Amino acid sequence: MAHLLIVEDDELLRDGLSAQLAQAGHRVTTAEDGAAALTRLGAEAFDGVVLDLGLPKVDGLSVLRQLRQTMPALPVLILTARDGIEDRVAGLNAGADDYLTKPFNRDELLARLQSMLRRASLPAFDATSAQTPATANTLRVDPNLPRAWLGEDAIDLTQREWALLDLLVRHAGQVVSREDVIGVWQAEPGETGGVASNALEVYVHRLRRKLAGSTLNIRNIRGLGYMLEI
Ligand code: CA
Repeated sequence: MAHLLIVEDDELLRDGLSAQLAQAGHRVTTAEDGAAALTRLGAEAFDGVVLDLGLPKVDGLSVLRQLRQTMPALPVLILTARDGIEDRVAGLNAGADDYLTKPFNRDELLARLQSMLRRASLPAFDATSAQTPATANTLRVDPNLPRAWLGEDAIDLTQREWALLDLLVRHAGQVVSREDVIGVWQAEPGETGGVASNALEVYVHRLRRKLAGSTLNIRNIRGLGYMLEI
């Protein structure tokens, strides 16, 4: 169970989300505008936020920027209009963890939220921390956008490669199961189809090639999954 803040000015949508998330076992608090959201955030502790960007009084982007100043790790999923590509990019740049475009499927929202909360509960891992000063082996993975760097060099990654690398880095030294990877892939924005059974091997192979020349190694743990060794 998580304590969630739903910030949405559309009453029907707010009540619907609130009922659905409560039914899924979460404790839900709601706010109908940006000012009310900031008041709630200052008064209570939350595990995650669903934040509409188009809000009266204080807009969602301002709410996000303000909350990020004091709560850098609070998981936030933003809701944007169908044609709001600029909003979405601004939201991700302002620190949103994920987004959904309206109208969205309620089951998808729940799946995305659960994936976001699961990721947030993992121990934060910074692959650079063990390797200061920076060397060519220093790996940095952008937590919000499909980008990563090995030393100063940008690694060209697809959305799936990035999601896989991010998961491996967060669990470096631990086994990540096939199911974990596929679950994260299916929760990524824009993913709609299933994942072929041999797809994971293909992506691991590609990532290994992209990490070649570093000391990072993706080890196959037979029957269990994969582990990033540093
Ligand atoms: Ca709205």
